[in-house]
Amino acid sequence: MKAHDGMYIDGAWRPAAGADTIEVVNPADERVIAAVPAGTAEDVDAAVRAARAALPGWAATPPAERAARLTALRDALAERREEIAETVTAELGAPLAFSRAVHAGLPITVAGSYARLAESYAFEETVGNSTVFQEPVGVVGAITPWNYPLHQIVAKAAPALAAGCTVVLKPAENTPLVAQLFAEAVDAAGFPAGVFNLVTGVGPVAGEALAAHEDVDLVSFTGSTAVGRRIGATAGAAVKRVALELGGKSANVILPGADLAKAVKVGVANVLANSGQTCSAWTRMLVDADRYDEAVELAAAAAAKYAPGDPADETTRLGPVVSAIQRDRVRGYIERGVEEGARLITGGPRAPEGREDGYWIAPTVFADVTPDMTIAQEEIFGPVISLIRYRDEEEALRIANGTVYGLAGAVWAADDATAVAFARRMDTGQVDINGGRFNPLAPFGGYKQSGVGRELGTHGLAEYLQTKSLQF
Ligand code: NAD
Repeated sequence: MKAHDGMYIDGAWRPAAGADTIEVVNPADERVIAAVPAGTAEDVDAAVRAARAALPGWAATPPAERAARLTALRDALAERREEIAETVTAELGAPLAFSRAVHAGLPITVAGSYARLAESYAFEETVGNSTVFQEPVGVVGAITPWNYPLHQIVAKAAPALAAGCTVVLKPAENTPLVAQLFAEAVDAAGFPAGVFNLVTGVGPVAGEALAAHEDVDLVSFTGSTAVGRRIGATAGAAVKRVALELGGKSANVILPGADLAKAVKVGVANVLANSGQTCSAWTRMLVDADRYDEAVELAAAAAAKYAPGDPADETTRLGPVVSAIQRDRVRGYIERGVEEGARLITGGPRAPEGREDGYWIAPTVFADVTPDMTIAQEEIFGPVISLIRYRDEEEALRIANGTVYGLAGAVWAADDATAVAFARRMDTGQVDINGGRFNPLAPFGGYKQSGVGRELGTHGLAEYLQTKSLQF
């Protein structure tokens, strides 16, 4: 695939400071499809300097003008929708139909939402004898993962740009091609030079340099809790703002009286989409003892409909995982589940039939999982579902809240009021009630170790603003 051999800094593609490159691999067949430059601290510094120089001008731009540029960005992404889908399918391995709908569709929606918010948001309000201004935080360092590669870029860059901040992005090393495509879209949308900058590179070098750069005012990170903790510590020591979107181990709580068939089917789909590589995936399915066996059967039947297949084929529902490292990690968890006594219903650690090349994991369902098992506590980030039995609602709540995470969840009950009463007691940032749809304007983010801060909608915009009060 086509790739730039430089960095997008100060409005142009410029040669990287070093000669190292990162190979981009198609996870379905392990072929190298492109190479991008591996940025160094020098590239990061050049990008931060460009962002700093562009800040006063962009921060002073009327919101309507920022909205116009964001609308143009939305349109540039929409024009290249099919190319985005194909790029994400090639570098992440997501099935093409899912790439079109989610990996391409969602960022277009989110970019559009921030075009509208830039125009309508109250950047100024009167409080008694004060006028309170919402001003941009400054230069934003954005570090993003590979699992929803364009969505996670847009969920940071769009609100930052709407707020009047300037941005340096360090995308994940596995999925840099869609990040380059995004930089092209920013360029086409006519943002002033330096307002958005891209440095590709590996986490411990380029990511670390960006997180630690003294001229970055806010670091927004999505990824693993281990790296997030480190970035939080660095930012805390420098007294700079930080937003962290980390892992999850979300519970799908099916209460007595719920439509079991629907709850299990939607629950399985929620985990297997994107090969289980979704931080908000409902990887723990909690079912009451009376209907547990029926739920296990339903889950096995639902998982059987996700045969691993060529992600470029429009009918495929389950692709590979992103890399050999992830495949080995997920396999390790499956082996651990078996060792600790969970009952393997379908799937398992071996590569699916006929899929020796590429990073494949069969859809895997575990029954008889107890809350203390590793597979019930740690984020697996693969197509693996754990069914956990509970005796009563109080126990279901204890299990649902019994991990270090709190990102998302679902509750199914005979009626919404029962589900809402349960959801209000869950220690988690988002809960879908009886199959409620994803809302790209609703605040997204974690309780507990799932993170700090919120993305999307007005809450996401507020992350990039700081307040100033003038008294009269
Ligand atoms: P990661 O946290 O290592 O990588 C995420 C981003 O951080 C990438 O851009 C990476 O280059 C960068 N990075 C890595 N080390 C860094 C450092 N020292 N300083 C600054 N930036 C750094 O995640 P991963 O290795 O790609 O995935 C590992 C696990 O993380 C997954 O298995 C999953 O459990 C979790 N994860 C969660 C999410 C999420 O959305 N919450 C996304 C991806 C991965």
